[in-house]
Amino acid sequence: MFCAECGAEINDKAVICPKCGVPVAGRGMAAGGTPAVPSHMVGAVLTTIFCCLIGGIVAIIYASQVNTKLAQGDIAGAQAASRTAQGWIIANVIIGLLGSLVYIIPAILAVAAEA
Ligand SMILES: [Zn+2]
Repeated sequence: MFCAECGAEINDKAVICPKCGVPVAGRGMAAGGTPAVPSHMVGAVLTTIFCCLIGGIVAIIYASQVNTKLAQGDIAGAQAASRTAQGWIIANVIIGLLGSLVYIIPAILAVAAEA
């Protein structure tokens, strides 16, 4: 079958289109039983831009797997990818905060020393 939104060919068991992410008509939430699985894509992209390129890219890879697995009907796989993406985002934020402290604390001490 084909996506009503973008016309991409999609798996008959798919609940959302893997290409554009739009729920397939008559399935997904309307069919019931398909839990919403957060992809954490926004957080993954933000951590890549503002903090950690390598860790952020890993998070983006897992975040992108969430919708792909959902589209394949693999709910458990999507939830696992979602948790992994979230874990990488949290790790990135912690590393980013620790990393910025390394710069911020000496800067504060330098300013304090000059005052
Ligand atoms: Zn589509």
